[in-house]
Amino acid sequence: MRCPRDTLGSEIGAAMERAAYERLRAAHLSAVQGALDDHVGRLDWSADQLHRHRDQALRSLLGYARERSPFYADRLRGLDLDALTATDLASVPILTKAEAQADWDAIVTVPDLNRVTAERVLNEQTWFSYTSGDRQVFSSGGSSGVRGVYVWDWQFFVTTACLAWRIQARDERRQGPVPNARLAVLSAGLPPHASTPLFNVPTAVGMQTVVIEAGAPFDEVLATVERHAPTHLVGYASVIGRLARAALAGDLHIRPVRVSTNSEPLLPADREAIVNAWHAPLYNLWGSTEIGVQAVGCAQGSGLHVCEDEVILESVDGRTLATCLSNRTFPFIRYDLGDEITMTSEPCACGLAYTRVADISGRRDDDFMYGPHMVPASAFRHVLGTDPRIVEYQVVQTENGADILVVAQAGVDDLSPALAKAMQRFGVASPIVRIRAVEKLVRNEGSGKLRRFVPMA
Ligand SMILES: [Zn+2]
Repeated sequence: MRCPRDTLGSEIGAAMERAAYERLRAAHLSAVQGALDDHVGRLDWSADQLHRHRDQALRSLLGYARERSPFYADRLRGLDLDALTATDLASVPILTKAEAQADWDAIVTVPDLNRVTAERVLNEQTWFSYTSGDRQVFSSGGSSGVRGVYVWDWQFFVTTACLAWRIQARDERRQGPVPNARLAVLSAGLPPHASTPLFNVPTAVGMQTVVIEAGAPFDEVLATVERHAPTHLVGYASVIGRLARAALAGDLHIRPVRVSTNSEPLLPADREAIVNAWHAPLYNLWGSTEIGVQAVGCAQGSGLHVCEDEVILESVDGRTLATCLSNRTFPFIRYDLGDEITMTSEPCACGLAYTRVADISGRRDDDFMYGPHMVPASAFRHVLGTDPRIVEYQVVQTENGADILVVAQAGVDDLSPALAKAMQRFGVASPIVRIRAVEKLVRNEGSGKLRRFVPMA
């Protein structure tokens, strides 16, 4: 048991750590503001210009990875980098999520970071943090059910934040400043998820921001949003959609001039509600903790513009492979994202030369209905997907709760209360959550994909 003085000591320690984080974070955001000018300028590039930039960055990444990463030294051996372009990537093997996590120590390109030290950062930090090498470590359950640990270096974060916000920033500069701009960010709100650091980024000087935990009970979320009266709204597509329906029903009285959705597929019903509620430009974003940001909508044409200057997407046999050009510390080269996409080469009304993908369809049938109460997959994912003991999991809906199958390195029965509590927050009165350890999970024979959330028939 801790005596009060120990508790006080650790609280002071945590407060000091958080203050140190905030100081570095402020410096980091200044770097983002500085780089935004360059990125806004790139929106005027022709296809030729951005492909030239992309191929140059690709040669640099591959050359670096081959020299600094034992994993890629092997994979990229014999590749002639001098005249290489994106089409030559086809000769490089695909990287799966399981490989990326299993071969972590061979992939990472810096000597002072490995899987063990990254796990230690996740385990010991009391808030978001930077390593002594200015890196951030994140964890995510992702869509495949395999827990992932990711490292974002200083420059990768700067580039990713610019990709996420440059179209909005350009449009806001054109329209002129919004007085008393206030940004509300509806995201995970807590470590180890990357969503809060990436989305809590002011796009104009003087913009105030507030982070609202999207997983909190909806009534609380609604009241907090109402109280802050944001002029700019950013967050999980399903939550923003629900806020829009509340606005249409007269339960929310905000007038956002810009809405940006992310982290989940933007379903047509949510898009329609958002447009009808606020008549504000709607920017949808498609990203991942691995690659950062793959594509961003322009609020004019349909679909999303691929960030072709920093990300290479390939559609191969129904898989989407992504190569991230800006993360040198943990290179993802031909990484299998899992999402299926449809590319279109038709020009967009907005005039951007960047090619588009259709809206990411994704699947929202991952959400479970218990009578009138909907428990989103994220409620389970936030508990199961970020526990370092869990290798893989599957959630099977039952009449009054869930059976959870886990492949784990240790017993995780102690997670039942947290999972039951998560379900209660969404209105399920007395959920029964059973956790069962298994050797392996049964995958679809054809696709090899795991059905991670199995609703009742
Ligand atoms: Zn467009």
